[in-house]
Amino acid sequence: MARLAILGGRESGVGAALLGQKQGYEVFLSDFGNIPDSYRGELETAEITFEQGGHTPEQILNADLVVKSPGIPEKAPIVQQIRRAGIDLISEVEFAARHTDGRLIAITGSNGKTTTALLMHHLLQTAGVDAALAGNVGDSFAKMVAHEQHDYYVLEVSSFQLDDIDRFRPWIAVLTNITEDHLDRYEYSLRKYADAKFRITENQTGEDHFIYNLDDPVTMELMGKKTIEAQQYGFAYERTAEAVAWVEHNAIQLEMNLENSAFSIDAMTLQGRHNMYNSMAAAIVGNIMSLRKDKIRNSFMDFRNAEHRLEKVAMVRGIEFINDSKATNVNSTWYALESIERPIIWIAGGVDKGNDYNNLLPLVEKKVRCIVALGQDVLKIHQAFSRKVEMIVNTGSMPEAVELSYHLANKGDCVLLSPACASFDLFEDYQDRGRQFKQSVREL
Ligand code: ADP
Repeated sequence: MARLAILGGRESGVGAALLGQKQGYEVFLSDFGNIPDSYRGELETAEITFEQGGHTPEQILNADLVVKSPGIPEKAPIVQQIRRAGIDLISEVEFAARHTDGRLIAITGSNGKTTTALLMHHLLQTAGVDAALAGNVGDSFAKMVAHEQHDYYVLEVSSFQLDDIDRFRPWIAVLTNITEDHLDRYEYSLRKYADAKFRITENQTGEDHFIYNLDDPVTMELMGKKTIEAQQYGFAYERTAEAVAWVEHNAIQLEMNLENSAFSIDAMTLQGRHNMYNSMAAAIVGNIMSLRKDKIRNSFMDFRNAEHRLEKVAMVRGIEFINDSKATNVNSTWYALESIERPIIWIAGGVDKGNDYNNLLPLVEKKVRCIVALGQDVLKIHQAFSRKVEMIVNTGSMPEAVELSYHLANKGDCVLLSPACASFDLFEDYQDRGRQFKQSVREL
């Protein structure tokens, strides 16, 4: 019996363990830290052998194949040992892809992956296509494949999952954009991070499709340097010669296969320039799959996005509160500020991942009245914006930040939580941060 070792005991690792067992491997899962109860329960129910609180090298280095969860960095000692031993080491998406015949629609990028994946999945379902959603949203791809076979899988794929692919070959690959994020995992090199994202297309052939953002400078620079076999489709906000999708006359315009279609923006539930990019990517997929235009249109009209992404929370005495807690980097906050028309009281801050706030200066000067700084790294916020806004105040908790924002806001203003930072100083994660924001707004 072939032996499979798995590193990491969460969504990806447990999914890979279940799939491995189903495929007839003798499975051993190892986690350096603690495995959360729910995942431990899944392993126990399936009678999969595992360890936690450390790796036992002898149990791992005798494997024929190792599957690594995306959270584990290349420099982890156990990964180095596996490399030295010459054992085949792959990512969970690679492993899952080897065990399904379903067609893969894979989405990667720095921002917009979840929104685009959800929208794409919603579109396929509206059109009656048998498609499952997996990857970073919901179940891991491996767990999905272990339990269910589908004609199509819509996958949200992070650059970490692409780091250890080998034959992973999406039928349609979408690259939303590439902006600075997670550079700590790529030796602070934007090029290395961008190269990892481009791996989404490295095994594609002329029968496959690659959808990309013509307005994204990093993507475009690398497009010039890479050989891409797949058929290519670029989208842009303004019409260009290369674009098959763009925005004009208050609609998304699509020109493919000598045919034009338009999707009115007013009727869409997703709003904001960034969401036009995400919607263009979905429309292109719909067209590649020859889905009916009215299905694409309907799916745009009744789509509901996940929590914490420019989510309208409430109007309190004429002040609008918006939860964009998922904005954990500067680029996503840029789009939040760009999309809001009212004067803004901006709640920002948290754990700074090496932010460069320069790009935000013009928008902040134009739209933001006051900044409510929250969390650990507020000094840089003061340095960047003190001359651009009426006032910057520091706060140490979400209820305090919301209350203060409420007092600073005038009728007609918008209070926006869009931190541009990670959340691990005051909160468990971005969801916890967003929920606390909503709770505090409700208590006003
Ligand atoms: P991801 O899964 O890549 O983190 P999400 O869809 O969860 O992306 O969105 C993360 C944040 O980025 C949110 O604040 C959202 O409003 C913003 N965002 C969504 N799509 C884009 C885009 N295409 N470009 C820039 N920012 C985006």
